[in-house]
Amino acid sequence: MTIVSEPLTASGVRRIPLPCGVNGIEFTNAYVLPDGDKLTLVDPGIWNPETADHGLAPLERGLNAAGYALRDISRIVVTHAHVDHYGMAGRIMELTGGELWMHTMTDLDTEKYRHPDTAAMRRRDMYDDHGLSTDEVERLHRTLDVWMPYLYSVVEASKRLHGGETLHTQSADWQMIHTPGHSLGHVCLYSKQDNAVLSGDHLLPGLTPPVTFERGFDADPLKSYLNSLAHIESLEPDLVLPGHGKPFRDAARRIQAIQRKKARRLEVIRVAIEQRPRTASEIASQLMEKALLDSHKNNLAFTETLAHIAYLRWSGFIERRIRPDGSYEWYALR
Ligand SMILES: [Zn+2]
Repeated sequence: MTIVSEPLTASGVRRIPLPCGVNGIEFTNAYVLPDGDKLTLVDPGIWNPETADHGLAPLERGLNAAGYALRDISRIVVTHAHVDHYGMAGRIMELTGGELWMHTMTDLDTEKYRHPDTAAMRRRDMYDDHGLSTDEVERLHRTLDVWMPYLYSVVEASKRLHGGETLHTQSADWQMIHTPGHSLGHVCLYSKQDNAVLSGDHLLPGLTPPVTFERGFDADPLKSYLNSLAHIESLEPDLVLPGHGKPFRDAARRIQAIQRKKARRLEVIRVAIEQRPRTASEIASQLMEKALLDSHKNNLAFTETLAHIAYLRWSGFIERRIRPDGSYEWYALR
């Protein structure tokens, strides 16, 4: 592991790519925000039971290269409580006594991690209702199991964010922007003076951030996501320091590309339902180019389809009714 020294950075911010290796995610970026002899760590990555150091060594090496040690961490900010960003948080708190800043809506995630079996049952009910076959329901409903080994402990925020708070450091002020969509408790950190945003998974290079529907969470996550994109766009940042991949410039261009992609997908689904009523399962399999054997990708395709369907429903384009076999089907209203 080498630390990437790169021109694309803001006010002394250092990026430390931390190996992940789950569901095809190679690295999660941690960011170090220096504050005198202390520092804030944004997104500590996974806790890894498969390595002798449990994933701490790459983080420590990165901190050392920046002139710091683990004990210098006084604060951890988690952009959203998905395990690839949050798994190590509890361990770092134990080792450093640092406080944890997370949005209040991450309570939904921590609740799920405390009761993974209930979460799996809720997902099974959702898949049943939306017309997946019994085999598919069995294969797909335990998605969380893949992630649970990489979560060291379930910790709650010591500072509960609502959005709008400012993180003052010696080098810059970072404003917490609530950006629900990819996750309901997602925050971006925005520095006006650097014209930069630490974007978590809200804005990623090369990949349209997945926006998925999960029962019991956001009723219209895609709408939240598009509103959050517009919010970030209105701040006119240039530099994006993302949760995965390399930093990039021209945030507006990336935002517009993502908006176009989501709009195209919405239109494809709207037209499919206009042609004839369909279940979410029928729509998802139509959208997939070929049968995906990978259950992670299958899950993603299905729950993203549900997010698009929810958007069309709450925009008044489609509505739901129940087929004789008990599954939901969607039909056009206009
Ligand atoms: Zn992520």
